[in-house]
Amino acid sequence: MDFFQSIIEFFSSPVFKLIVNLFYLFAFVLYLSLAKWTYSDAQRRGAMAFYWTIVGLLFPIAGWLIYLIVRPPEFIDDIRERELEIKAKEVLLNNGGMVCPTCHKSVEKDFLICPYCRRTLKKSCPSCSRPLQTGWEVCPYCQQIL
Ligand SMILES: [Zn+2]
Ligand SMILES: [Zn+2]
Repeated sequence: MDFFQSIIEFFSSPVFKLIVNLFYLFAFVLYLSLAKWTYSDAQRRGAMAFYWTIVGLLFPIAGWLIYLIVRPPEFIDDIRERELEIKAKEVLLNNGGMVCPTCHKSVEKDFLICPYCRRTLKKSCPSCSRPLQTGWEVCPYCQQIL
């Protein structure tokens, strides 16, 4: 009976009570940090942050699990970045998809020189001064032999 006696003594000892209190404290801190995490995560994803924090606080485990399932899959910043990328590609397509071969920045079709790195993109016709591609033998606009 000594063994059980010592177990019972342990459970009623101040050390055990301290352990229980520490456990409660830990659970409470975890609870608060999960609520804070839910709030900032929902905000970054454009979900209803305030609403989800309340749900998480009222239903600690179930609420957070449901939030993890139904939360928007992407961060707002990622979506915005992708939209900017698409817009940049559209601009590139609209001006004929011309890109400087040296610095790869978008340039207009009739640029003679890259405004970013000063690479010569085209030469101008000595007669009509329209932009010509570097390999051309004759100006297609005014028939000037180059
Ligand atoms: Zn360039
Ligand atoms: Zn010409």
